[in-house]
Amino acid sequence: MYVKKTEEELGFMEEGGKILGRILTAIEKKVAPGISTLELEEEARRLMKEFGATPAFLGYTPHGARRAYPAALCVSINEEVVHGIPNEHPKVLQEGDVVSIDTGICYKGLFTDSARTVPVGKIDKTSRLLIKATKEALLESIKMARVGNKTGDLGFAIAEVAKKYNFSPAEDLGGHGVGKTPHEDPFLPNFSARGQGVILEEGMTLAIEPMLCEGSGKVKMLSDGYTFVTRDKKRSAHFEHTVLVTKGEPKILTR
Ligand code: MG
Ligand code: MG
Repeated sequence: MYVKKTEEELGFMEEGGKILGRILTAIEKKVAPGISTLELEEEARRLMKEFGATPAFLGYTPHGARRAYPAALCVSINEEVVHGIPNEHPKVLQEGDVVSIDTGICYKGLFTDSARTVPVGKIDKTSRLLIKATKEALLESIKMARVGNKTGDLGFAIAEVAKKYNFSPAEDLGGHGVGKTPHEDPFLPNFSARGQGVILEEGMTLAIEPMLCEGSGKVKMLSDGYTFVTRDKKRSAHFEHTVLVTKGEPKILTR
C-alpha cells in the first residue's frame, strides 16, 4: 500500500523538491577535476542548512542495512552505481570521470529525492552517450507515471531506452515511493514487463531512478555496506526525480 499525502503535504513536497533541485544544481557546478567528494558533501550540508532543510539520508538506516548511512550525499564515480560514500575515504575527482550525485532532503517534514550524473571535465564518447541515455530513460519513464498505468510500465520504458543505446539497466536496483519517509511502497523495478506490478493512483509520489551501465548491469555491494559497483567494472550513470502522479501530466517536483 502506498502512503497517501494531504494537499498540504504535497505542497510541502513541491517546495522541498524545488529546493533540492537548486541544491543539486549548485553541487553540479562545483564538479570539476581536483575537487574532492568530501568538499561536495560539505557544500551540500551547508546548502541544506541555508535552505532550512535537513539531509534525508544522513543517519538513516534503510531496510536491510547493517549501519546508518554516514553522509548527506551519495557520490558514485565511474563503475560505482549508487550509494558511494563521499566522506569516509574521500576521493579527488579526475578529468574524464563520470560522477553521480544523489541526495534527498526533508523539508517541513516531507522527503524528496533526486540524482544527476555529470561529467568531470572532458569525458569519452561512450560516457557521454551513457549519460544521455540514462537521462532519456528517466524522462521516458516519467511519461508513463500516469493514473491507471502500472509500475512495470515505468521499468519497461527504462529497459527500452537502455536497449536502444545498447546499455543495461543495473540489476536488482530501482526506484521507490517517497514522501513521509525516504523509502515507501511501491518498489519500481528498472526493467520490467509492460502491464505488470502495482497500479498507479492519483497523488502517488514516486522517486523514479534509472541506473544504466555500459556493461552487463550485474552489480555487487562493497564491504562498506553501501557502495554498489558493476561486477565488470564498466561505467554506470544514474538520474532521479521525485514525481507526483496527477489526473493529467506527471509533475516533476525536483527540477
Ligand atoms: Mg536518490
Ligand atoms: Mg531514491
